[in-house]
Amino acid sequence: MIGILGGGQLARMLALAGTPLGLRFKVLDPSPDAPARDVAQLVQGAYDDPDALKRFAEGCSLVTFEFENVPSTAARWLLDHVRVAPSPHALAIGQDRKNEKDLFTRVGMAVPKCRFADTREELHRAVAEVGAPCVLKTRRLGYDGKGQARLKPAPDLDSAIDRAFDELRPAECGGLIVEGFVTFDRELSVIATRSATKEVAVYPLVENEHRNGILHRSRAPAPHVDPRMQRQAEEFARALLEELDYVGTLAVELFVADGKLLANEMAPRVHNSGHWTIEGSVCSQFENHLRAILGLPLGSTAMAGGGYATMVNLIGHMPPRDELLAIPGVHAHGYGKAGRSGRKVGHATVVGSDRAQVDAIAQRVAELAARSEAARSKDWSASG
Ligand code: AMP
Repeated sequence: MIGILGGGQLARMLALAGTPLGLRFKVLDPSPDAPARDVAQLVQGAYDDPDALKRFAEGCSLVTFEFENVPSTAARWLLDHVRVAPSPHALAIGQDRKNEKDLFTRVGMAVPKCRFADTREELHRAVAEVGAPCVLKTRRLGYDGKGQARLKPAPDLDSAIDRAFDELRPAECGGLIVEGFVTFDRELSVIATRSATKEVAVYPLVENEHRNGILHRSRAPAPHVDPRMQRQAEEFARALLEELDYVGTLAVELFVADGKLLANEMAPRVHNSGHWTIEGSVCSQFENHLRAILGLPLGSTAMAGGGYATMVNLIGHMPPRDELLAIPGVHAHGYGKAGRSGRKVGHATVVGSDRAQVDAIAQRVAELAARSEAARSKDWSASG
């Protein structure tokens, strides 16, 4: 039995990938409606409740995670009772943007200009040093663009800094980081897996498009990547995995600016920009994560299904199933979540041998999703 801390969609897809391999899963999640409940045994409880942790770990030969913000008390408790992968050390780095940046720099990767600040005075100084425009981020607990503020050069910059300080509450999230605003050409990510036997597999670079701070679309392999950039990303991923003595799947988000790669952040887990690997790769990021933590041979990261894949996130509510499935070639994934504005409730992947055709079909999915979400909000406003 494999235990997964967190029962969200990532746990659900891990369990879906592992079930054909004869693996069984148990998840710990505070919610009775956790998306993985349909495919794994759900232990409902708080992550830092020793009794819930005990019920969760019972019968598990191995525990892994679907998110990085694991309370340190839980990580410590688990380490004393069961084998854990990836290591809590890797999670601790992924929890803190400063640790991440230090690690990226240590393995020779360029990062955006940045400064750190805990107090209001330090924040004013950091913004002055980095210069506006800049992006303020909480060091911890930020996700999908939350825990961030942007500052533009303006006569009232000082009051904007004060407002951002009050909104971001640095005392509750490890302090702030001020990053220079990168006018990037595009965003990419690299996903890689390292096994307990130290075998490494790297997926082709992915191009990611965000809307309102949330991933909207991923295309793989990222178009127009020269082999040098692919090689650099691969070497970077390998260096990170080695440096962390990492076991499992890891993702790094990158900016391309002036033709060069800059590292933004890493996720010590399977990642939304790798969901296309379910149909688009010989072996998915989920299956490779499981193979890695079990010390099994890794699967091929080569493209499958024709060579091109595009994934579109479904945000808010699932579009009507009949309309979604009427789009030819669509692979639909619903996460079994109640709909809510801005919530990731599913995704759809299209694969094929013609890049333009794959993108056109994915665009039909995106348009359907936008149309049905707009119709829903109209219904809501009409009914008061
Ligand atoms: P993050 O949570 O760091 O991944 O940020 C969410 C999104 O905000 C990124 O995917 C980018 O689109 C944007 N972003 C983050 N940092 C910067 C930056 N320093 N300059 C410009 N855009 C950024």
